[in-house]
Amino acid sequence: MILGHHLIAGEWVAGEATFSNAPAHGPVRDFSVGTPAHVDAAAKAAEEAFWSYGFSSRAERAAFLNKIADEIDARGEAITEIGTQESGLPAARLQGERGRTVGQLRLFASHIEKGDYLDRRHDLALPDRQPLARPELRLMQRPVGPVAVFGASNFPLAFSTAGGDTASALAAGCPVLVKGHSAHPGTSDIVAQAISAAITATGVHPGVFSQIQGGNRAVGQAVVQHPLIKAVGFTGSLGGGRALFDLCATRPDPIPFFGELGSVNPMFLLPHAMQARGEAIAKGWSGSLTMGAGQFCTNPGVAVVIEGADCDAFIKTVTDALALVGAQTMLTDGIAQAYRSGRDRIRTSAGVQEVLTSTCDLRNATPFLFTTTGKEWLANETLGEEIFGPLGMVVKVRDFNEMLAVATSLHGQLTCTLHMDAADTTTARALMPILERKAGRILANGFPTGVEVCDSMVHGGPFPASTNFGATSVGTMAIRRFLRPVCYQDIPVDLLPSDFK
Ligand code: NAP
Repeated sequence: MILGHHLIAGEWVAGEATFSNAPAHGPVRDFSVGTPAHVDAAAKAAEEAFWSYGFSSRAERAAFLNKIADEIDARGEAITEIGTQESGLPAARLQGERGRTVGQLRLFASHIEKGDYLDRRHDLALPDRQPLARPELRLMQRPVGPVAVFGASNFPLAFSTAGGDTASALAAGCPVLVKGHSAHPGTSDIVAQAISAAITATGVHPGVFSQIQGGNRAVGQAVVQHPLIKAVGFTGSLGGGRALFDLCATRPDPIPFFGELGSVNPMFLLPHAMQARGEAIAKGWSGSLTMGAGQFCTNPGVAVVIEGADCDAFIKTVTDALALVGAQTMLTDGIAQAYRSGRDRIRTSAGVQEVLTSTCDLRNATPFLFTTTGKEWLANETLGEEIFGPLGMVVKVRDFNEMLAVATSLHGQLTCTLHMDAADTTTARALMPILERKAGRILANGFPTGVEVCDSMVHGGPFPASTNFGATSVGTMAIRRFLRPVCYQDIPVDLLPSDFK
């Protein structure tokens, strides 16, 4: 059953006002509007919980994470039902995303049990060192305190209430305050019930998790400005993320804002690969570009190709493949509207040709394909801005030098992809140092959608891909965002955190 309220430290709290969700299908439901007072109550409860949870054992936190995963699975059918209604995503996608979500929780449980993430270091005392003795020094990573998480519209499960940000913060020992996304409040409600059940079952402090529903921009602003919140995880728009990042930076005590914003995820198609298998690359791109209505942060929106017959054949194959893709429901009316606005911006840009046109209206997206030249791309920075949806741009460059110039002009990216054969190695080698400076992840001969959750994953990159390019929001290294190193100098062993023993 969907409760429609905020969860604050174990209590379901109603607000004075309500807002309605806007499902793609199914009944409309009402939810309590969050207020800064709700945020204050949740942040205070989180701070109180930190004094026990932040000092709990790794085994206790692992048991809690595993229990959350079990409770989510126990509500699987209800989550899929409301999730498909609210997001318009197909049931199979929601089921797969639930698998990823519980997998992330279990991965972080086993990750903290291993203990490597603590990065424990020990420099022995050198009392006889001249001219100065060295004290005994130990270092370990410790949780930062209460963390705020903004649920993402495009991953109602894996990047929302119990998603990767929440899992990594809870694993670190940080209580979490979730600001629910207004696109899927019912889905968030049921997942919060699962977390609440896990809290009761494992006996952790109820302030360890709260969820405030949105419906009001003042909630998000109050969350990032609350003095007891010590870090923020966010996935969303460049505008929203930048506004919240700036609020974090201008607090009397600035805090880190781990925002994952916009990326066009360019692919560089090298000549020998194009000659050998341009058609296969074209078909693969078409599938990746349109998967999930293109609503992935790693959607590969741009292909950079050297002009000529292979390039022309590639564009023809992509156009034919995209033309077969029908309308798909987008996550919200606002996102569908933003998609069409982005298309109109590209359509009216100088030096851009519309190769595949389509009509889409209401909450639907259909694919569009545009081409431009390297020269036009280099002259118009806005062509490199993310358009969230199944819209592709082929940048036709004169030669490899112009391809290098396009690569150098890029803003920060989550991913950059090389399509190459062995005979392209020399040119790929020239691109690599540039791509390494631009992206958090570089791929060869694949497509960036479908992000593996594992130890080596980096889902981040220079701005605007993320606001903090030293971090990742996917994979076990995501835990580092919510830790800070503490050095213990000559501290007696009895006073050290138990993880040293
Ligand atoms: P969004 O508008 O940035 O919203 C994300 C979250 O931040 C929501 O909880 C929203 O609150 C809150 N928020 C946004 N601006 C705020 C502000 N100025 N003050 C306080 N809170 C604020 O993102 P979205 O709704 O998910 O999607 C809109 C667009 O974001 C898409 O069209 C797409 O371009 C982009 N997007 C990109 C990615 C990516 O991975 N790169 C993912 C998702 C979306 P409310 O719930 O009240 O709106």
